[in-house]
Order: sequence, then structure tokens, then C-alpha cells
Amino acid sequence: MQENFSLKPYNTFGVDAKARYFAEVHSTEELIEALNYSKTSTLPLLFLGGGSNMLLTKDFDGLAIQLNLKGIHEEFVSDNEVLVTAKAGENWHEFVMFCLNKNYGGLENLSLIPGNVGTSPMQNIGAYGTEIKDTFVSCTVLNLENLQLETFNLEQCRFGYRDSVFKQEGKGKYVILEVTFKLTRKDHKIKTEYGAITSELENLGIKNPTIQDISKAVINIRKSKLPDPKEIGNAGSFFKNPTILLTQFEELQQKFENIPGYTNGDFVKVPAGWLIEQCGWKGKQIENVASHKLQALVIINATGKATGQEIYDFSTKIIDSVKEKFGIELEREVNII
Ligand SMILES: Cc1cc2nc3c(=O)[nH]c(=O)nc-3n(C[C@H](O)[C@H](O)[C@H](O)COP(=O)(O)OP(=O)(O)OC[C@H]3O[C@@H](n4cnc5c(N)ncnc54)[C@H](O)[C@@H]3O)c2cc1C
Repeated sequence: MQENFSLKPYNTFGVDAKARYFAEVHSTEELIEALNYSKTSTLPLLFLGGGSNMLLTKDFDGLAIQLNLKGIHEEFVSDNEVLVTAKAGENWHEFVMFCLNKNYGGLENLSLIPGNVGTSPMQNIGAYGTEIKDTFVSCTVLNLENLQLETFNLEQCRFGYRDSVFKQEGKGKYVILEVTFKLTRKDHKIKTEYGAITSELENLGIKNPTIQDISKAVINIRKSKLPDPKEIGNAGSFFKNPTILLTQFEELQQKFENIPGYTNGDFVKVPAGWLIEQCGWKGKQIENVASHKLQALVIINATGKATGQEIYDFSTKIIDSVKEKFGIELEREVNII
């Protein structure tokens, strides 16, 4: 247990906020020990994975717990299927690479997403036409009220777009300890239709892609588009893509004929990056904070000196201008602490 501890290396925005107390745990027993300590002193809790989806707006007056539980377990369930369970502290991308090295298919489109396995169910991480809900079986959690272990299956997690029960009514009630996925061993489903995967495969001269090729293409595309948090502080997409009513979308089309949208029944998902760009934010910097020059949806700690509050205020300005121009209220994807 350490006191007055800087969380700068523990959040990818590189914000220098301090935690009153900090502990790193390597097992469920150590976690329970730390929780018992916080219960006796009634400290608020903050769980840390890779810190790639949080914005620390101020010092945290409580106990921050870095979840460093490690381990991967495999179980063949049929000729073509394997259950792979990884502990919360496993790095997500390294876990995906582990699966690809064993030729287990299903997670390849999710290559290079920062963060840890334990956080992946929080917002049902997704990219390039895949979400974890497509291969998720269950997760084991610790109930913070009674310190009992519970299992959540696919249905109980109520996954949605960048959403789950853990961001809604289960918020702050559970710590995810491990996650199990069902992956394929030979009849892999290759998904190339989303984003620039097809053209990147062409660039690589690949005609019949394997799951490993898909991963390679996704990695190349992501590296060319997104800032590396090791070089420039960011948390990926800061906002969710808003879903609006088809009627509202049609009204907007009268005024903005190029407005992009993906229709699903009576609703349309509009790319937040486009809306932000139209408001003139792409590449724009205010003091220490900017919108990324290649992707307006990504807010960056441009000078490395930004405070969490500055980044938050910058995001509020973006929300206000999108609301004013399009009448659409953007929702933050990043967890505000
Ligand atoms: C460059 C970049 C690109 C990104 N691209 C994508 C993308 O393509 N798709 C996507 O979905 N996301 C993307 N993200 C967002 C981020 O990588 C994911 O949301 C990731 O799952 C966050 O994991 P983490 O361990 O870093 O979470 P953290 O930031 O550590 O935690 C996020 C929240 O979950 C809580 N938490 C952490 N661990 C646990 C646990 N075990 N149990 C309960 N609560 C917990 C934290 O307290 C916090 O509120 C990107 C981020 C960056 C920086």
C-alpha cells in the first residue's frame, strides 16, 4: 500500500493525478485483502486495468487498485472449438497474439486494442466489425458488497454498443477477475468487409487471408490511423457514435447532404468523428489539449502537460458545438473519474 501515489504511468492520457492510496494485487486473495482494508477505512475505490479508457479529472481521494492477475487457461470442447480463459490483468493485445499463435480464431479483428482482458467486457470492446460479445462465454466477477464470486453469462452481461451491465446498473458493484471466450480451432470465420481490411490485404498481396493475416492488416491500419499512447497521451475514441431517429437524420440530410449514417430500422448511427470535424475541431489545439489531426474523435494530451480537467473542458466544448450545429448530443465513451 503506497500513499500519495502518482497515477501518471497508469493512464494513457498521461495525466498526473494522484491517488491517496495505491495497491497492486496479483491474486483474488490479495484483492480481497485490499478491499477489506478499504472497507475498514471506508475509502472510495478505483480499479485500474491498462488505464486506456479513463480520464482522471482530479486527484483520487481513495484507494486505487491495479489489477495484475495473470494466467491463461485453455480447454478443447470439440474438434473445432476451444474455451480460452484469461485473467483480468493479461494485456488484451498480448492475449489476442497468444490465441493467434495457437491458431485460435475469433479475436483477430480486435488486435492492438489497448487495455487489459478484465476490462474488455466493460464496454464490449469492438473494432473492424467484431465485438467481444461475438465470442464471449462468461466472466467471473467479485461482488463488492459481499465479496463472493459470481459468474455472468452472455445474456447477463447485456452487451450493447460500447456498453454492458457493468457500465449501467452493475457500475461500481463488481470487479471482473477473468473472462472466457469460445474460439475456433480450424473453421475460422474470416471478416474482411469492415473498414479498410480488404484494401490493406491487397497492399500486402494476400488473396486468401488467414486469421493471422487479418490481424496483420488490422494492426497496420490502426498504426497508420491512431496515435500511439506511448508517444502521445490519448484514450482512443473519446465519444461514442450517436444513434438518432431516422426522421431526425432525414431532416439533417436536407441541410447537410453529405452526412454519413448507418441505418438500422428506425434508427441511424452517425459517425461522431464526422460531426466533430464539421464543427472545425480536427487538429485544433487549445493550450495543452487538441483533437487529433488524423482522427477528430481522438482527443490528445498535446503537450503532455494537460490536466484531466482541461481535457474534460475541451470535450465539453466539442459536445456544445456539435449540439449547436446538428442538434445531436454526443456521449463520452471514456470513463470520467
Ligand atoms: C489508441 C487507443 C485505441 C483504442 N481503440 C479502441 C477500439 O478500437 N475499440 C474499443 O472498444 N476501445 C478502444 N480503446 C479504448 C480502450 O482500449 C478499451 O476500452 C479497453 O478495454 C480499456 O481497457 P483498460 O484495461 O485500459 O481500462 P481502464 O482504463 O483501466 O479502465 C476502464 C474502466 O473500467 C474500470 N475497470 C478496469 N478494470 C476493471 C475490472 N477488472 N473490473 C471492473 N472494472 C474495471 C476502471 O475503473 C475504469 O472505470 C482504445 C484506446 C486507445 C488509447
